[in-house]
Amino acid sequence: VDKDPPLFKLLDAVSRGVKKPGKGESVVYWMRMQDLRINDNRALALASAQAQKDNVPLLTLFVFSPQDYIAHDRSARRIDFTIRNLQHIKSSLEHLQIPLYTTTHSPRTAIPSHILSLLNEWNATHLFANIEYELDELRRDINVCELAKKGGKVACTFVHDKCIIPPGDVYSPFLRAWLPHLASKSHPDPLECAPSPEANGKSIYQHPVFGKLFNVPVPEEIEGFTINDIVEKERIRTCWGAGELVAKEMLSRFLHSKARTSQLGVVDPLADGAKVPEKSTKNTRIGRYKDARDKADADTTSRLSPYLAAGVISARECIRATLEISGNKVDASHETGVGRWVQEIAWRDFYTHVLALFPRVSMGRPFQEKFAEVRWETDEHLQAWKEGHTGVPIVDAAMRQAHTMGWMHNRARMIAAMFLVKDLMIDWRLGERHFMEVLIDGDLASNNGGWQWSASTGVDPVPYFRIFNPYLQSKKIDPTGDYIRYFVPELANVRGDDIHKPSAALADKLGYPRPLVSHEEARNRALRRYKNPGTE
Ligand code: FAD
Repeated sequence: VDKDPPLFKLLDAVSRGVKKPGKGESVVYWMRMQDLRINDNRALALASAQAQKDNVPLLTLFVFSPQDYIAHDRSARRIDFTIRNLQHIKSSLEHLQIPLYTTTHSPRTAIPSHILSLLNEWNATHLFANIEYELDELRRDINVCELAKKGGKVACTFVHDKCIIPPGDVYSPFLRAWLPHLASKSHPDPLECAPSPEANGKSIYQHPVFGKLFNVPVPEEIEGFTINDIVEKERIRTCWGAGELVAKEMLSRFLHSKARTSQLGVVDPLADGAKVPEKSTKNTRIGRYKDARDKADADTTSRLSPYLAAGVISARECIRATLEISGNKVDASHETGVGRWVQEIAWRDFYTHVLALFPRVSMGRPFQEKFAEVRWETDEHLQAWKEGHTGVPIVDAAMRQAHTMGWMHNRARMIAAMFLVKDLMIDWRLGERHFMEVLIDGDLASNNGGWQWSASTGVDPVPYFRIFNPYLQSKKIDPTGDYIRYFVPELANVRGDDIHKPSAALADKLGYPRPLVSHEEARNRALRRYKNPGTE
C-alpha cells in the first residue's frame, strides 16, 4: 500500500473530472463528522462563493452512516455529540436561509449513488466537501467523483481543511518542517480564515423542493448509537456542551482565564468563574501549560479535543488565537506554554499525515512491520482493564475517567495504554478499539498514533525497552493523589504514598483489587517478546 500513490491524491485527480458544468439550480456543501462548523470552513466557504457566483441557493447536506460507525468503532458519545452539534448548525444556518438536510443511509457502499440522486433531484451542478483521510471515506468520495463524472453534470471539489498543513506537504523531521509554514507569508496562507457563508435569498422558502428541506429535523438519535443511560447522557452533556460558541469559549478559557486546580472530574468546564480573563498569562492554562500539562490531578489542558476531532472549531483558529498571545511570533520552543501547545496541534497534523500517507496503520498493521509478530497474551485481563479494576490505581483512575467523562488526560492515556500492552501483554489493537468505543474525542488518526506510540510500533514511538513504571508515573502525574481519589472511590480516604501503590492488606480492607500482574515480571516478559518477535 505504501508504494501506491495515497488515495487522497487520487481523489484530488478524479475530483477535477467535470470541469465546466452548466449552471444548475443549486450548489451543495456536504458536511461530515469532522467539520461540524459554519465558520472558517473551507468547503462551505467555496460552496457559498459558487452559489453567489451562479446566483442559486446553497444547500447543505449531512449523511448519517451507521455502518461506518460500526466499522470505525464510533462511540455513542461521539454520535450524540455529532447530533447535538448538527442541531446548533441547523438553527444557525436557518438564520441565513440555508437548509441543512440530514439523512441516514445504508448500506454504506450505496452512499455515493444516494448523494448523486440527491444532487440530481436538486439540480445541483457543484458539490463541495472537506476531505476525510480515512481509507473507506476516501474510497467513497472517489466513487462519488466517478459517478459524477459519468453523469457529466456535477463538478466535485474536495478540499484540505482538517490539518494546518495538508498531508504530503511536510516530511521528517516533522516539527522542524511544519513550523516555518506558520510564519511564512506563503500563498495560500495556511492560517487564513475561510469566509463565512452568505445568506440565501428569502425566496428559497417558496421553492417546491428546497423549501421543504427546512422541515426535515436532525434526528434525535441514531439506532444502535444511543446513550441509553439517562444519568450518563446528562453527565457527558455537562462535560461537553455542543456548538461553535462553546468551542470558542473553551479556547478562550484555555488562553485567557485562570487555571483552577479544583476543577477536576465531572463539572461544566464553563461554569461560573471559568471565563474571567486574567491580566497576564502567568496564571492562565496556556501560561502554565509547559509545567502543568502532565498533571492529571488538576484541570490544566484545553479540553478542546472533542471540538477539534469533530471540527466544531478549526485548528487554524486555535493557532491564530494562540499567536495573538505571543505577539504573532511563532513560538514553538519547548520552554513556553504557547510553544508546547502549538507542538500538540502539530502532533494532530502529524498523525493525520501518517494515516493519509500510510493507510495500512488503520488496517490493523503496525507501522514498524518487524513488530507484527510480537506474541500477545490472551485477553483474559482485558475486561478488568476496561473497567478500571487492574489493581494499579493510576491505570484504574484513567480507565474510569474515560468511562465517566468520555475523555482522558493525555499522560493518563499513555500510561493506561502502555500498561495494557507491556504489562498485560494484550494486543494494542484491542485497546485502540476500546478507546474509540468510549471516548467522545475518538479520532482514528490520533488514537492510532497514540496507541502505536505506546506499543512502540509506530512512526515515532517510545523505544520498546523504555517501559513506564505505572507506580512512578502515578507520583509524577498525580502528585496530590486527587485524581485517583476522585475516580477510584474505594481509595477516596487513602492518604500519602499508599494512594499510588496500596499494600495487599490495605487493598483487601478497602475492597480494592490486588494488581493483576507484577510490574517487574511483566516488564521482563515484554522485553523478551519485543526483542525476539515471533520466537519468544
Ligand atoms: P491539549 O493538551 O490541550 O492539546 C491540544 C490539542 O492538541 C488536543 O485537543 C488535540 O487535538 C491535540 N493533541 C494533543 N496531544 C496530541 C497527541 N498526542 N496526538 C495528537 N493530537 C494531540 N487525541 C484525540 O483527539 N483523539 C483520540 O482518539 C486520541 N487518542 C489517543 C490515544 C492514546 C493512546 C494516546 C496516548 C493519545 C491519544 N490522543 C487522542 C491524544 C491526546 O491524548 C488528546 O488529544 C488530549 O489528551 C486531549 O486533551 P486536550 O484537548 O486537553 O489536549
